Amino acid sequence: MNAIVSARIVDLDSDGLVNNHTHKAQLFDPRGHKEALALSRLNAILQTSIELPEIVRLFFTEVRRIVPLDGLSYEHQPQKFTFQQGIQEGHSSNYRIQTDSDYLGDLTLFRSGRAFQQADLEKLDRLISYLVFPLRNGLRYQEAVRASLTDGLTGAGNRISLDAVLSREVEQANRYGHPLSVMILDLDHFKAINDTHGHSVGDRVLKTIADTIQNSSRNADMTFRYGGEEFVVVLNKTDAGGAKVSAERIHRIIEKLTIAVGDLDIPVTTSIGVASLCHGETQEELLRRADSALYGAKRGGRNQVVVAEPALAHA
Ligand code: GH3
Ligand code: MG
Ligand code: MG
Repeated sequence: MNAIVSARIVDLDSDGLVNNHTHKAQLFDPRGHKEALALSRLNAILQTSIELPEIVRLFFTEVRRIVPLDGLSYEHQPQKFTFQQGIQEGHSSNYRIQTDSDYLGDLTLFRSGRAFQQADLEKLDRLISYLVFPLRNGLRYQEAVRASLTDGLTGAGNRISLDAVLSREVEQANRYGHPLSVMILDLDHFKAINDTHGHSVGDRVLKTIADTIQNSSRNADMTFRYGGEEFVVVLNKTDAGGAKVSAERIHRIIEKLTIAVGDLDIPVTTSIGVASLCHGETQEELLRRADSALYGAKRGGRNQVVVAEPALAHA
């Protein structure tokens, strides 16, 4: 048992664990047999999950068995992840967790009764050292999941995440009778921008448009790149009237936007098709109606919003 614990800590030192108590994880002290068991148990339990919230939750539950704690807060700003449990007040001890190569977040432990004693802090250092590798794995996994659902160029959701989100939203809307709308937005004459100014300017335009849609939408997570220069926005709990207002707002904001290329300011316009879910409709039918509305906007001269008629079969 002791050998496992020691090996783990040697690993850790070679990876350069640091925290703001400045002393490094110490080799296991054989005085505390009970603590060694607890560390071994913590080590095993933390490896049962790859999900970040679960790893931090398990850590809190296990550590409280060894050092009395009332709350925990963990934050990883670069991945916009925060997690809190228990009470966030009283005495606190902060840890910046990092290895030579990775920043792994900021952890704060809270206790409302007795202040942390030196012996508590030393135990916590040892306990936190067991969090390093599970945390790093959890962060990498979370980042990989995020990347697999995100369009690399624009940062909007990709087709895979659109399918997942829309199928969930359609299912919920049909079950609970909530309104649900989608808009499909297509840049007008985008090919001409590429042809005139080059593909990299085209890419910059796409990124600017995605940012603009996300900044002007209620829920940034619901914007997806549907194809080359087409985006879909999913508006949950929004009926046709509300979706039309949102689409017109986005349309207007983009119309006023110009993209600076050297001395030039290139204007960009969009055509937008909007459709609202009719009860019992599938996501494919909903997208098809939004796409037909978009086609109507193009045919009607571009640079406009068109709202689809309700589906006949479901009206
Ligand atoms: P319309 O008003 O009818 O929509 O005309 P359009 O020129 O916008 O549409 P069209 O479908 O003819 O052209 C779309 C262009 O989008 C062609 C393609 O090269 C370009 N495109 C697709 N994906 C990307 C990309 O990732 N980056 C850049 N720069 N261009 C892209
Ligand atoms: Mg297109
Ligand atoms: Mg286009």
